[in-house]
Amino acid sequence: MDRERRRVRVTGTVQGVGFRPFVYRLASELGLAGFVRNDSSGVLIEVEGPPDGVAALCERLVTDAPPLARIASVSVSVIAPAGGRDGFRIVESTGGLPSVPVSVDVATCAACLAEVDDPADRRHRYPFTNCTDCGPRYTIVRSVPYDRPATTMAAFTMCPDCRREYDDPADRRFHAQPNACWRCGPTLVLRGPDGVARASGEEALTGATDALRAGRILAVKGIGGYHLACDATSDTVVRELRRRKGRDDKPFAVMVASVEVAATLCNLDGPATHLLCSPRRPIVLAPRRPDAPVAHAVAPGLPELGLMLPYTPLHHLLLAGVNRPLVMTSGNLTDEPIAHEDDDAVSRLGPLVDLIVSHDRPIHIRCDDSVVRAAGGRLQLLRRSRGYAPEPLRVPWRAPLPVLAVGAELKSTVAVARDDWIVASHHIGDLEHLANFRAFEQAVEHLCRLFGVEPAAVACDLHPEYLSTKYAADLDLPRFDVQHHHAHVAACLAEHGQDGPVVGVAFDGLGYGDDGTLWGGEVLVADRAACRRAGHLRPVVMPGGVGAIREPWRMAVSWVQAALGTAAAERVGRRLDERWRPVLDLAARGAGPVTTAAGRLFDAVAAVCGLRSRVTYEAQAAIELEALARRVPRPRAPAWRAEVRREGEVWVIDPAPVLVEVLASLEAGEPVEVVAAGFHEALGHAAAVVAARVAAAAQIGTVVLTGGVFQNVRLTEVVTDALGEAGLRVLCHGEVPPNDGGISIGQAVVAAARASASHPA
Ligand code: ZN
Ligand code: ZN
Ligand code: FE
Repeated sequence: MDRERRRVRVTGTVQGVGFRPFVYRLASELGLAGFVRNDSSGVLIEVEGPPDGVAALCERLVTDAPPLARIASVSVSVIAPAGGRDGFRIVESTGGLPSVPVSVDVATCAACLAEVDDPADRRHRYPFTNCTDCGPRYTIVRSVPYDRPATTMAAFTMCPDCRREYDDPADRRFHAQPNACWRCGPTLVLRGPDGVARASGEEALTGATDALRAGRILAVKGIGGYHLACDATSDTVVRELRRRKGRDDKPFAVMVASVEVAATLCNLDGPATHLLCSPRRPIVLAPRRPDAPVAHAVAPGLPELGLMLPYTPLHHLLLAGVNRPLVMTSGNLTDEPIAHEDDDAVSRLGPLVDLIVSHDRPIHIRCDDSVVRAAGGRLQLLRRSRGYAPEPLRVPWRAPLPVLAVGAELKSTVAVARDDWIVASHHIGDLEHLANFRAFEQAVEHLCRLFGVEPAAVACDLHPEYLSTKYAADLDLPRFDVQHHHAHVAACLAEHGQDGPVVGVAFDGLGYGDDGTLWGGEVLVADRAACRRAGHLRPVVMPGGVGAIREPWRMAVSWVQAALGTAAAERVGRRLDERWRPVLDLAARGAGPVTTAAGRLFDAVAAVCGLRSRVTYEAQAAIELEALARRVPRPRAPAWRAEVRREGEVWVIDPAPVLVEVLASLEAGEPVEVVAAGFHEALGHAAAVVAARVAAAAQIGTVVLTGGVFQNVRLTEVVTDALGEAGLRVLCHGEVPPNDGGISIGQAVVAAARASASHPA
């Protein structure tokens, strides 16, 4: 009989995702012999049988792969038949370098949910039900290879029923490492704010749902940490949560039971619905419906809500029991890291809550919810964390040595680059708060251990005062200092698999420049290794230094002084804040740090428009200004223009004429949204004009839009349209955040490129 044997090598995220049982079932169904096993490169298969059966297996490996698998490559070679009398087997893993990616944490699958809902099932209402297609991964694994003893499930001994599932290659739970049930797995416990247990199991669950219905505030242990949860429909309760958490206005995420309920809160288009239902279960930003049944205090003054669907059986059970939308926000005091350890949760969250819903499955590494938006048919991650980290980014080049990149300071992430991939950590938080520094160190350790990376070089920001830069300087490793906005551009290059050169428009809050001033309105010519400043926003004084970030009225005084002179700035200052005089004095004398940051210009315009003189969270004023602008269709926006001029080697964008228009229009009683729209047109147009001129001079056809300011959908639209008319290709961020959460990836790219230049392969 005609027989063929093939060796198939599969790489990518193929371990801990049910790949081997999938291959086993496929081979059994097709009547083939051979084996499948995990090793340090991924999955190795040898399969033998009639050639058409072998070919069918090779094809269906890809087309029918399990939902969590991310296949990077499949290579096939024909080898000599071995007889294959023992049928098909799953053989033990072989050791070696743990270079195989660990899966992301995955939302409860439909099959598990059906069991949880089924009164006849042995897992009916069990809050920790999971299988190879779903459940925690990244947050419970301590080391690799990913096996039960290497996870925080090590202490739980499987009961005979769970063990049978775990050992049966034909079962959905074959080698599902967190496999558990009521008899053998983690237990839900309801605690008082003092940490004392009050109920467990089913009683804990009903106690928690009753409390939420009664308007209590609870801490709830999830996958990557604790949430603070409460009834999202009650303004009184949500306001009380704000008071206790010390959070003024920053919007809260809302968890709803189903996509049908989500549709009563927000206008959901196809891409938003798809994201909401994806097993990654991010928080999805979507336009809020005017009649949305949620409290005003959930997202004060914002046209969008952040929604997510339940992603653990516990969430499903809570939502079903409470039967109304719940606020689900990170379990922390403002600016602190999210609590993920039980003792820490009692001491830090106990004082904030009425009850704590906990369990005894430890969370090894914290991981906040991811935040994503689908705008204009494009997905954009604003926070890349649970469900996305640690999925590697494949790149079309090789790092000559393993690189650790330590990121920036706000929205910190770290990344490692090795071979042809980069992997970024979960969201760590703002490192200006020392409490987050330990979380930063843990992220570095976790990532390096899981991916078997022993860094041979470190990449960091140019800013000498960032804690991450200081950390890098203390390592005894060759160091690559990467300019902040170059890193932003490089991060975007990496996700598009590009080398450059490109023109990069990098607009953000602040970043340390080559000249020691604070940049953030930059037009760069950059490739992976090098970067040159080709244009920028006109620099202005930041009166009082970085304190001006929290007080946009200071930037208003400074910008109006620069654009219209002292008399106009005095009028604006008097209107906005009683401390205007010393601020105007600093601006008029040109005293203090100067900045070209576009984010600070947004602050100034928002303050001049009377939106707000102070912000309570990053970019608040800019977000509100954009929200106003979006009420005015672009054809109805004033076609204001900034001045673009040449100064020496660079182009300068001077918005002075726009500020003249802004003030005149406000004085003439024009609606603020029209002014906001005109400002977006002017800044976007100027950015496109400079980018196009730089591109023409350097004979470059592609422009990258990056930096936190490009979370602004309206500005992105204006710039993209203008660049398109100029015949340029535009690259925007998708899977990698445009904000500082993407900086570590960009640093890794630049360091790898520079290391390649100094050590040619
Ligand atoms: Zn499942
Ligand atoms: Zn069990
Ligand atoms: Fe930045």
